[in-house]
Amino acid sequence: MEQAGEQALSSVVWHPNTQMGEWDEFGEIVQGRGMHLIDKKGRKLLDGVASMWCNVWGHSRPELVRAITRQAARLQHSPLFNLTNGPAEELARMLIETIPGMHRVFYSDNGSTAMEVAFKMAIQYWSNEGDSGRNRIAALSNGYHGDTFGAMSVGYMPGFFGAFKGQLFPAVRFDAPGGREAPGGPTDKEIEEECLGNMEERFADGTIAALAMESGAQVAGGVRIYPRGFQRRVSRICKRHGVLLILDEVATGLGRLGSMAEYEAQGGRPDIAAYGKMLTGGYLTMSATLATKKVYDSFLGGYDENRHLFHGHTYTGNPLAAAAAIENLRMYKRRNLLDKVAKGARVLGGYTEEISGMGRVSDVRHAGMLMGIELSRGAPKGGPSTNKIIFEAGRRNGVYLRTLGDVVMLVPPLAMGPADLRRLVEGTVRAVREAP
Ligand code: PLP
Repeated sequence: MEQAGEQALSSVVWHPNTQMGEWDEFGEIVQGRGMHLIDKKGRKLLDGVASMWCNVWGHSRPELVRAITRQAARLQHSPLFNLTNGPAEELARMLIETIPGMHRVFYSDNGSTAMEVAFKMAIQYWSNEGDSGRNRIAALSNGYHGDTFGAMSVGYMPGFFGAFKGQLFPAVRFDAPGGREAPGGPTDKEIEEECLGNMEERFADGTIAALAMESGAQVAGGVRIYPRGFQRRVSRICKRHGVLLILDEVATGLGRLGSMAEYEAQGGRPDIAAYGKMLTGGYLTMSATLATKKVYDSFLGGYDENRHLFHGHTYTGNPLAAAAAIENLRMYKRRNLLDKVAKGARVLGGYTEEISGMGRVSDVRHAGMLMGIELSRGAPKGGPSTNKIIFEAGRRNGVYLRTLGDVVMLVPPLAMGPADLRRLVEGTVRAVREAP
């Protein structure tokens, strides 16, 4: 029997981060073609969020489909427990060559677990080094590192994770710059200086194992772009106090902000870095946690010493996903992806002023192929959410949109060309104007 308030859903799937009570139908996507998702009714939606920020080349790219099917015909899965496989090895080599300073690659399946692995590496590193009192993870307020327990503990977002508050492990947090300056509040520069000062002070007691932060920008926190030099300064403070630096490049690395390793552009020097999202071009689920030699070496020893990393999943290093990632990274080079990103970034950036001037918009933040349009007022309480309203208005205008809080996220496939980007921004602007 139907429960009170429950609607006759056409879907029996429990959808992620979704108030199921406010949806009575979900558009069923039956095909992906180029930069579009096509639903059952034949409606084409320009993919404005790169299918949750992971798509690079658009949908159904023959090179990627071929790489996956070729690999599937040879070996669809074999574990990395006691064995290895060619694609996992080849991809790890490519990543080490691409991401500077890194020595080993640990695979998992999504960004959240890539970060869980990073936290475990950092805490166990200190235990291996005989300093198990260094066991706290520090992070930036408003950061997001996924929604598994460790990731929630570190990237705690009160609006998302309040129900779990009492069950999370204790993390230390610092307010970070990069958001909209509140009228009468501290300037971004003041927030930055206070953040760095607080880090210096807090790190001095030797209990912090690592600081985790998103690299370049906080994305899920509403596209908050760090001021120039901030990440470099954080990195120096970590080095000075022996705190490991974990950079979360899941959303911002592999080209999203313009560089393969965003930390190179930002001047950060991580001990551990995590990648996911774009790794397979948006075709299969895989992520990677990369560690420096210093970190890796501390896990070596006799079996009985229990120094090895206690982590591993069924599909760790899956060869199908690795084959997709290898072809994806080859295409980055072959097709000069970073040039396309630079061009796309100029197109997106060209709209900043116009969008900022819209009545309903309080701020626009942009870097690379990432834009956050902050609305000055969200949906009134009691009715449909801002996300639903903007999604529906976007759909009427042929674009697939998702908001986070009151921020409309534009996170297109990295290779989206200027004409589609213009269509995307113009469809979004119309959707924001039309939304009730
Ligand atoms: N880290 C960052 C910076 C992210 O933006 C996300 C997801 O949005 C994650 C980690 C978690 O990745 P996933 O959703 O693949 O678990």
